[in-house]
Amino acid sequence: MSIAAARQQEFNAAKLAKRLRRQVGQAIADFQMIEDGDRIMVCLSGGKDSYTLLQLLRQLQAKAPVAFELHAVHLDQKQPGYDAQTLPRYLESIGMPYTVLEQDTYSVVKRVVPEGRTMCSLCSRLRRGNLYDHAATQGYTKIALGHHRDDIVETLFLNLFYQAKLKAMPPKLRSDDGRNVVIRPLAYCREDDIADYAQRQNFPIMPCNLCGSQENLQRKAIKAMLTDWEHRFPGRVENVFRAIGDVSPSQLADRNLFDFASLGGRGTARTVASDWLRGEPAGAETETVAG
Ligand code: SF4
Repeated sequence: MSIAAARQQEFNAAKLAKRLRRQVGQAIADFQMIEDGDRIMVCLSGGKDSYTLLQLLRQLQAKAPVAFELHAVHLDQKQPGYDAQTLPRYLESIGMPYTVLEQDTYSVVKRVVPEGRTMCSLCSRLRRGNLYDHAATQGYTKIALGHHRDDIVETLFLNLFYQAKLKAMPPKLRSDDGRNVVIRPLAYCREDDIADYAQRQNFPIMPCNLCGSQENLQRKAIKAMLTDWEHRFPGRVENVFRAIGDVSPSQLADRNLFDFASLGGRGTARTVASDWLRGEPAGAETETVAG
């Protein structure tokens, strides 16, 4: 490689790292994800997203005006061929405190899911359950997950197309059981950028397909649709993502989000509608037709 090309590569890498740091900082600020004194459990699957998340959070921690604690937690799901050395070796090399939990969710998933069906949904539910239990019992104040902008947009379309629901994946939420607060600091980051960053950083990526499961076909189809859109209409995915943060309840049709009933305010609309539903248009007179 020529010196000019090497310089260009270095420049691109620095620019990429800066962009990701800025986006993570912005998401954390916008959603008030981290407070002084937080104990954050960073879920580390061994994939590109979680390695990137951990690295960026550590960089932020070193410079942040508030003090917070980070602890990496990984769940060994007892998949065949799992390499138990890779993650500990990496975490020790960077001086990162960590815990590896062990739970044989692989056998459960194999037993419950019929042959040939995708196992990811049950597998992720069991993984989440174990990690959330651990966070609650160990007193972590936040759980950080490595989902990024593209995961969020994919989830939006999955819910839209297959569940008839307008919902995505929030950057911050309280878990369903109410015990934990989950944060997604990579919410503003593009998957391509993360993949590029992870490759440049040489993270020891661990595959998530040791189980032999097929990728969820619906998610695959949505991913392909978004890739095609982005290719033909650059910026469309970003627009969709921005729309998630700029919702106008009065321009949708969810009566729980907007009080359509009281618009107009004369109080007769409900009566008219009820009459109509009963098949009697309000105010209609009964005519007797002579035979
Ligand atoms: S690919 Fe395998 S390990 Fe990964 S989520 Fe799916 S079932 Fe679980």
